[in-house]
Amino acid sequence: MTNNISIIGGGIGGLVTALSFDKLNISYRLYERAESLKEVGAGIWLSPNALQVLEWINPKMLKEIQNAGNIFNRILVADHKLNPISDSSQSFVQEKFGYTTMAIHRGKLQQILYKYVAQENIELNKNFKAYSQNKDQSLKVNFIDGSFVNTNSIIGADGINSNVRKQLFPNSKLRYSGQTCWRGISDYDIKNKLESVGFTLWGKKLQFGVSKITEGKVYWFAVKLSAPNLTDDKENLKKELTNMFSEFHPLVNNLIKNTTENKIFRGDLSDLELLNKWNSGNICLIGDAAHSMTPDLGQGGAQAIEDAFYLSNFINNLTTIETACQSFFNYRKEKVEKLVKQSRLTSKIAITNRFTEKIRNFILKNTPESYMKKQMIELYTLDKTIANNV
Ligand SMILES: Cc1cc2nc3c(=O)[nH]c(=O)nc-3n(C[C@H](O)[C@H](O)[C@H](O)COP(=O)(O)OP(=O)(O)OC[C@H]3O[C@@H](n4cnc5c(N)ncnc54)[C@H](O)[C@@H]3O)c2cc1C
Repeated sequence: MTNNISIIGGGIGGLVTALSFDKLNISYRLYERAESLKEVGAGIWLSPNALQVLEWINPKMLKEIQNAGNIFNRILVADHKLNPISDSSQSFVQEKFGYTTMAIHRGKLQQILYKYVAQENIELNKNFKAYSQNKDQSLKVNFIDGSFVNTNSIIGADGINSNVRKQLFPNSKLRYSGQTCWRGISDYDIKNKLESVGFTLWGKKLQFGVSKITEGKVYWFAVKLSAPNLTDDKENLKKELTNMFSEFHPLVNNLIKNTTENKIFRGDLSDLELLNKWNSGNICLIGDAAHSMTPDLGQGGAQAIEDAFYLSNFINNLTTIETACQSFFNYRKEKVEKLVKQSRLTSKIAITNRFTEKIRNFILKNTPESYMKKQMIELYTLDKTIANNV
């Protein structure tokens, strides 16, 4: 049997592509290497551009996601003592789009997305190894367990270390940002006026992000300049993190103290050097596989979700998959490349030194509100005219 489209990877981008295909009646199968989708990972912020796609797929699913997370009324950048540098009320976003950015447990989000996908199209425990071309021009997808499927096209949604990309574009390069990141979920109640705020504290060579995700649970991430590939002494990790952030507002260390040690995840932060195309013939990359960015703007997942929306609609509207993939790249390239560059720049200015700190804060404090609002509206706007079924 030859499948029409094979999606490799059931992360955020792969699952939302599957959901979009279900909506548009496009035939596909999705292959994910994990044996099950457990509640792993920490938190994630979902911005209105992502939420609009989820609503387009199924308003009931969006409601369920919103109910499982925490909706922001402000996004705040502060100094290490929590003094505001830039404080953006989200009421104009609410007015324009009907919702604002929210935070949710990453595993919870994945579970809800998974629940809504047509289950018969998903295969877990399928670790993609390589593809090859059949004599009739169809493709063969080989898995590590020795099994294979024949398919007409492949969507590589297998994340930053994508094996599909490594085979398709062997010269693609990840760029280490010079920063490492710890993420955790703290058993802590933020009850005061910070309850509905997504906020980041920018210190000297350190950064700490915070958001409540649900009652009694707070998602945090800690970023530090570091050489790559270092590992933690798990026994002393919390002590090291509390020492690292000892000059920060006391909330930071309270959050670290109330986090289970073996539930703190560490990962080096990299992005992908820009590719000049995302497809070759009927093989196309989306999400982090195509354009991984540093997490500083909280847009990597949202852009994977936007990719799913646009690619599925181009496939639905155009005659061949190859034309759809090319149109998808031409359409998405400008926005995505801008975000990769802006995220990288933000990662540099967020973690600054004593000398540049004052200049940075001055610029941020004095950026006109109208400019910030315009940028946010542009970022969050989804072109629904591309879709047939809105
Ligand atoms: C510290 C940090 C914080 C972040 N915060 C945010 C945020 O707040 N908001 C936001 O929008 N983005 C955020 N991001 C970015 C976001 O996590 C990614 O952009 C997003 O997960 C990309 O989705 P994806 O589906 O492309 O890849 P992934 O989510 O990585 O999914 C890839 C999937 O493919 C599977 N897979 C991999 N290899 C194979 C294989 N060989 N065979 C089969 N399956 C395979 C994996 O198991 C996984 O399920 C953050 C990133 C980091 C590092």
